[in-house]
Amino acid sequence: MAGFDDLDLRPELLAALTALGYEEPTPIQRDAIPHLLAGRDLMGQAATGTGKTAAFALPMLNRIVAGTRVGPPMALVLVPTRELAVQVSEAIYRYGRELQAKVVPIYGGQPIGRQLGALKEGVHVVVATPGRAMDHIKRRTLVLGSVQLVVLDEADEMLDMGFAEDIEAILQVTPGERQTVLFSATLPARINNIARRHLRDPVRIQIERAPNERETAPLVTQRAYTVTRAHKLAALGRILDVEAPAAAIVFCRTRTEVDQLTETLNGRGYRAEALHGGMTQEQRDRVMHRVRAGTAELLIATDVAARGLDLDLLTHVINYDVPSAPDAYVHRIGRVGRAGREGVAITLAEPREQRLLENIERVTSRRIAREKVPSVAELRARQMDSTSVALRAALDGDDLQRFSPTVDQLADDYSTRDLALAALKLFHDARSNPTDEAEIPEFVPHSNRPKRERTETTGRPGGKFRQAPGRKTRLFIGLGRNDRISPGDIVGAIANEANLAGRDIGPTRVAERFSTVDVPEASADAVIAAIARSTIKGKKAVIRRDRHQHR
Ligand code: AMP
Repeated sequence: MAGFDDLDLRPELLAALTALGYEEPTPIQRDAIPHLLAGRDLMGQAATGTGKTAAFALPMLNRIVAGTRVGPPMALVLVPTRELAVQVSEAIYRYGRELQAKVVPIYGGQPIGRQLGALKEGVHVVVATPGRAMDHIKRRTLVLGSVQLVVLDEADEMLDMGFAEDIEAILQVTPGERQTVLFSATLPARINNIARRHLRDPVRIQIERAPNERETAPLVTQRAYTVTRAHKLAALGRILDVEAPAAAIVFCRTRTEVDQLTETLNGRGYRAEALHGGMTQEQRDRVMHRVRAGTAELLIATDVAARGLDLDLLTHVINYDVPSAPDAYVHRIGRVGRAGREGVAITLAEPREQRLLENIERVTSRRIAREKVPSVAELRARQMDSTSVALRAALDGDDLQRFSPTVDQLADDYSTRDLALAALKLFHDARSNPTDEAEIPEFVPHSNRPKRERTETTGRPGGKFRQAPGRKTRLFIGLGRNDRISPGDIVGAIANEANLAGRDIGPTRVAERFSTVDVPEASADAVIAAIARSTIKGKKAVIRRDRHQHR
């Protein structure tokens, strides 16, 4: 834990990080934590996936929670959405478990009674959406007079959702001498305004700086697959089956992930070896020996463990998570495509991590092709190809004659064709990994790249073919129920302004403060431009591609 040890955090927090399998701080954590521990205000440009939650949560827990009794909240985190409120409070709970930190998420849509009970019992940290926080402040059920630290997380999103006034009002009722932290994926002028008014001489941190090795190896083919966390393991297995790498390294964020993945992949018939910072030198040497000797085909590793590792035979680098910064990405994929050889770099990204992927593309000036996780049908076709290749190789071999008496004997009862079919079936079933039959749902990223439509099987028995529907893109619109907007208003405005047929628009979801609507990918830019020029129900609306897609 040398990395975190340098950061002057309480032993309880270090123990929690070890238990979670974190080996070293991400760049944003390394940069931000010392300043936050020193009590400075901070403004950070960081997207989801950079480790920004721990960057503010660890110093928060270190300074605020330790040894204090619960009462009115000592820290407040404002986030744009309910999902994020839950996610962030869970993260703070995990980091603060040994400190017995009490964290409560507060968001719209949840019965207010539960939240009232939790607030009444006393808490250390409240993680809230601004709208619901205001409700509680007005009812005097949320008292912010003891707050020492306020975090504005995903500040740009909160502004897009029309929370600017609520944020102002909330900050007004917190003590003037509080510490204030602002994280935002983008830094438009409006964010700088908030920072000017509410942050005191903030440290500014940006994790998007260019990597040292600016040039990524030109011979490396880069691909990314977007899958939800729940489908990641299955997707990786599927991709490996289709890709069939000769030797690959799979990077994970944590030791826990390394162990879990190694076990799963071994269960799937791969010879996978784990490598992480918790292993002794002797264990590591043994692993490396097996990889070099070709008795292991997959090395599952954390960044720390793989540092300084020199493996010429690698054909594939696989990022099980998007690396937390562009330089880490460049460093990882630099392990293939060496000495003029070709290599493949594959990244699995969760829907919320699209922005991180785009940052990497921008900083490296290289495109990362977005691909669809292979379907069951594609996997089967690939396995059949490989059986057929193996069969051809056997036909070219010279030790076939010993099977002659068996074939002659069976030929009395069966045709040679039927014999070939049966033998092929046995051979194919024995060498193909068992496939999990379920299709992995496709996530349609909000990229504006042209996409081919394709035919695919539905995966139903009988395998009927059907035409997949045209790709849709989800748009975010900064007007919701509070603005008295209905789905019909949105569909009407888009149909009129962008000249789309009603049946091409939808589904449409209207939340309290924002809405989303799905439109054909090919029309997305036109719709955005048209609505940006006009109004919905007489109101100007922020409109853009939805960054989350799974609200
Ligand atoms: P965030 O950007 O805060 O949403 O974090 C993204 C993911 O990275 C979360 O799943 C965290 O659990 C994980 N994470 C955060 N910090 C680290 C670290 N230092 N090492 C490994 N994983 C981390």
